Amino acid sequence: MSLQGKVALVTGSTSGIGLGIAHKLAAEGASIAINGFGDPAEIEKIRAETEKTYGVRAVYVAADISKPDQCAKMIADATEALGAVDILVNNAGIQFTANIEEFPIEKWDQIIAINLSGAFYAMHAALPAMKAKGWGRVINIASAHGLVASAQKAAYVAAKHGILGLTKVAALECANAGVTVNAICPGWVLTPLVEKQIKDRAAHNNTSVQQEEHALLAEKQPMLKFSTPEHIGAAAVYLCSDGAATVTGIHLSVDGGWVAQ
Ligand code: NAD
Repeated sequence: MSLQGKVALVTGSTSGIGLGIAHKLAAEGASIAINGFGDPAEIEKIRAETEKTYGVRAVYVAADISKPDQCAKMIADATEALGAVDILVNNAGIQFTANIEEFPIEKWDQIIAINLSGAFYAMHAALPAMKAKGWGRVINIASAHGLVASAQKAAYVAAKHGILGLTKVAALECANAGVTVNAICPGWVLTPLVEKQIKDRAAHNNTSVQQEEHALLAEKQPMLKFSTPEHIGAAAVYLCSDGAATVTGIHLSVDGGWVAQ
């Protein structure tokens, strides 16, 4: 239980990778602030199950992380409920695919706001207390698309490359404050975000979901299997551990060999 006494806020933890990270941090004893959209009854179920399964405190802090004032309130609400935000995982993100000339301007703005600016807004609000306390961990969930590109993902790839730059700047600024700032770059993880892409491809190519799952992996990953949210959570636990005390400003790829090529 390496994170007993710590408080972790994971944005976008009502689903997918964020939920996997929240569970892994809770399993290490951290209290959890859950954030993200969804049906209120479903969110309450996630919150209550997290408390019961891991024997930690869990609260829900509502915020659309593309809005700076809501991000500031999210950090304040988590601090009020749980006493601090020691670990901030900037995970919430969305996807949209189209060629640049057909990419709706509003989709570009929305993806940059959620996938990039949201992490800045949350760090802006959370870093002062971490620095004052002399201990903190920020983990930004980037992507293999923070390092390499794919066609039709202009906003997503731009935001994910941006978040790696933001991670490095924050790491430099916090280097002697006891606060580390790192990124994780997942490859394919089978979550609602990717399931939608697979279903769209199957409909477009008149193929099965299973065929498109294999095709998606084969196009990008030497290792022909999906990472799980728990794999990403395990990487987050490592970055929060004492063993990673001097690891800062890095990206940790969990991607089945995607960017080794
Ligand atoms: P997901 O769709 O399962 O979960 C996204 C979460 O973000 C949900 O909880 C959703 O409610 C929340 N969210 C969306 N917009 C929000 C907003 N404006 N404010 C607050 N919360 C918001 O997706 P996922 O696959 O778990 O993705 C999580 C992160 O992992 C994203 O940043 C994504 O880019 C990244 N990622 C995913 C994969 C993958 O293969 N699934 C690969 C690399 C990186």
